[in-house]
Amino acid sequence: MVKKSTREYVLNFFTKNPNHTFTLQEIEVAVRKEYEKDTGLTDLYVNREVRNLGTQGYIPDLGNIIKPKRGEYRFEKGSGPIKLKSPFPENVKLDIKKKDNYTCQWCGKVETSRDRLAVDHIIPEDSGGKGVLENGITLCTHCNNRKKNLGVSIFGKNMFERYLLLAKKDNDKKTIKFLEEVLKVFEKHQLK
Ligand SMILES: [Zn+2]
Repeated sequence: MVKKSTREYVLNFFTKNPNHTFTLQEIEVAVRKEYEKDTGLTDLYVNREVRNLGTQGYIPDLGNIIKPKRGEYRFEKGSGPIKLKSPFPENVKLDIKKKDNYTCQWCGKVETSRDRLAVDHIIPEDSGGKGVLENGITLCTHCNNRKKNLGVSIFGKNMFERYLLLAKKDNDKKTIKFLEEVLKVFEKHQLK
């Protein structure tokens, strides 16, 4: 018998049960049962694989795995990726730049007529972030690419770490204390 991978077991479960919302635990129990049927063993740990699939979202040729709530997963059968696009209307983009003083919020670069700054989503569109004022941040192209590559949580963490360095330089005790507390929150939730 060919041994199936954990991923295959999980995908089998989802494709057999489309359009239903399951908790992580329900998925684990059901998938382990299948695994036990095949192998007589119960040592299959699926949580990590389910989370990976949830992060991946779109599974080519099968459909989309979405997370209706924290810890819940649902397989939506279909061919293409679900698009959750919510771009900024031009007037909102302008408002965001104004709010940020036409300055890159990461490196401090100021917009010039030759060098335009970009407006980006703080919560990414794929995670349901909307194209509204509160969810906008002004970034230069260079920093915008950095953010895309790093993801929002590490980008935020890096930003606070930079501020902390600056505050230490200025010996600004109040700000240092504040930033150290913020960084503890990142640590607490193991956001890297
Ligand atoms: Zn920048």
